[in-house]
Amino acid sequence: MSQGHTSPGRGAESYDVVVVGAGFAGMYMLHRLRGLGFSARVYEQGSGVGGTWYWNRYPGARCDVESMQYSYSFSDELQQEWDWSERYAPQAEILRYANHVADRFDLRRDIQFDTRIESAVFDEVTGRWAVTTSRGDTVQAQFVVLATGCLSNARKPDIKGLETFKGPVYHTGNWPHEPVDFTGLRVGLIGTGSSGIQSAPIIAEQASHLTVFQRTANFSVPARNGALSDEERGAFRNNYPEIRRFAREVARNGIYTEQPDRGALDDDEETRRAKYAARWERGGLTFMYAYNNLGLDRTANDTAADFVRGKIAEIVNDPGKAKLLQPNSHPIGTKRICVDTDYFATFNRPNVALVDIKTHPIEEITASAVRVAGTDHEVDALVLATGFDAMTGSVARIDIRGRGGQTLNQKWAEGPKTYLGLMSAGFPNLFIITGPGSPSVLSNMIVSIEQHVDWIADALGSLRRQGLATMEADRDAEEKWVAHVNEVAAGTLYPQANSWYMGANVPGKPRIFMPYIGGVGVYRRICDEVAAKGYEGFVLQRADQPRAAAS
Ligand code: FAD
Ligand code: NAP
Repeated sequence: MSQGHTSPGRGAESYDVVVVGAGFAGMYMLHRLRGLGFSARVYEQGSGVGGTWYWNRYPGARCDVESMQYSYSFSDELQQEWDWSERYAPQAEILRYANHVADRFDLRRDIQFDTRIESAVFDEVTGRWAVTTSRGDTVQAQFVVLATGCLSNARKPDIKGLETFKGPVYHTGNWPHEPVDFTGLRVGLIGTGSSGIQSAPIIAEQASHLTVFQRTANFSVPARNGALSDEERGAFRNNYPEIRRFAREVARNGIYTEQPDRGALDDDEETRRAKYAARWERGGLTFMYAYNNLGLDRTANDTAADFVRGKIAEIVNDPGKAKLLQPNSHPIGTKRICVDTDYFATFNRPNVALVDIKTHPIEEITASAVRVAGTDHEVDALVLATGFDAMTGSVARIDIRGRGGQTLNQKWAEGPKTYLGLMSAGFPNLFIITGPGSPSVLSNMIVSIEQHVDWIADALGSLRRQGLATMEADRDAEEKWVAHVNEVAAGTLYPQANSWYMGANVPGKPRIFMPYIGGVGVYRRICDEVAAKGYEGFVLQRADQPRAAAS
């Protein structure tokens, strides 16, 4: 392996590692690779770093894991010096942080922006990947790391007439860089997931009228956002070693919070309500941590869902609207729970209407209106908060060809198959960060990103020390892991929801619960054990070895 930035004597540009994507995953991957002396090139289709926070600039966008935890832990200097202004930082601040990290660790010189990776083809003779960019260049690499993001492929809905609409159409996941001013406009908002729920209150304040088109009512808890004081920041900074250890090793979701020690049905009604009320007052995602069986037992789950439905009824003045806003189609938490600021109260504003598009789906979008049940809802601008082709979407858009010319899309036609979410058999030296089959989107993503990056970096270092050239998931190990991921999910309430975790938001996408729900602590231990046992379940080979089938 070369130690420089390009490997000499190979003609085309050549690197030890090509990394696709410059979000938090790609940036940290580059930093680790450099530290190990690998030559690496990062390709990013956007014009800057930050990934999610570069693209999602919609009004109200902010994190829903507290910033003191939704931040890198790999550098103590970084976490001690960066001042988060609010409990949940707004998008612009998180993007500033990403840029600060890029500058502080001098990452930009190895990142090529405005460049999409279109294809990656494995050459079984040379054992290298040929990676082709949107600029028409092909570079060679021994390893490819897909840091392409789980929520990076914004989905425009297939609604009749959408292209005939005369006003501007915005997607929350691909928002313009220039400020968008809705003053005096009638805005239609389609989609009531986290993005729709964050943006509705802000758009309602600005627009002359907002019509929210709701297909599925969602559970949302208040963020209780606010400025962070020095004391609050200090409480984290002084205890970071323990907070980060807990998030990595103990918490299921990578968030430091009290862990519940009992089930919801172990308490009487009054105690339960008091616990839910306390969590509601504190705000945030950890509402679901009031009890340890809310994701497992439907009767227990109903107690939490009833509490939130009750809160919606308390907040929303119009009983008809309140009823429509109360989620009834899925257990609470089985679709990503939303965290909002004044979402439900927004429907008390005189300039906000709610249209049920579950009972009567949108018939058509005309030049100036959204037609539902024969009524034209006139709008000047449309906001699509319709989500993403999640977890697999950005990977699927790259033409990836492994052994025997098989494409990853062919292999994943009935659902993604990986070993540990890290590699897929038949695709040597191709790694995925927070891929399907890992805790990923069920966790504080930065915790999961750092764990994957560290594991991959250690694996590459180990290969180099042993003079090995390829690493590949073994098919048996992969099948067992896929079965395990499914088995764990089947023991929970999660598969009961038509969620993007299941691929249910994309027509025709296989319905498989994609993330690993066993928890980040358990998962980390499994990955560490696999590594300690010489990368059990992976086939490692020298360059001159005949191919031992990874099957
Ligand atoms: P991304 O940030 O998605 O970056 C991937 C990058 O890869 C993108 O910049 C993309 O342009 C690039 N890319 C993709 N394909 C190609 C290609 N073929 N060629 C070149 N470049 C390519 N998670 C949390 O834990 N807490 C939160 O509070 C939270 N809030 C979120 C809010 C929003 C609005 C969204 C959409 C997601 C949120 N998430 C949150 C999830 C978030 O995606 C992750 O936390 C994290 O930012 C993902 O980082 P990443 O580097 O893995 O992927
Ligand atoms: P989402 O959760 O997938 O929500 C998309 C919404 O659009 C849903 O209400 C969906 O309805 C609706 N929709 C999709 N296609 C439609 C169609 N053809 N017609 C009508 N309605 C349609 O997407 P998101 O809100 O962008 O969030 C995705 C994920 O990103 C979140 O779950 C979260 O992990 C992350 N995120 C986090 C934050 C945060 O608070 N930090 C903010 C935004 C996003 P159905 O439910 O019926 O499919």
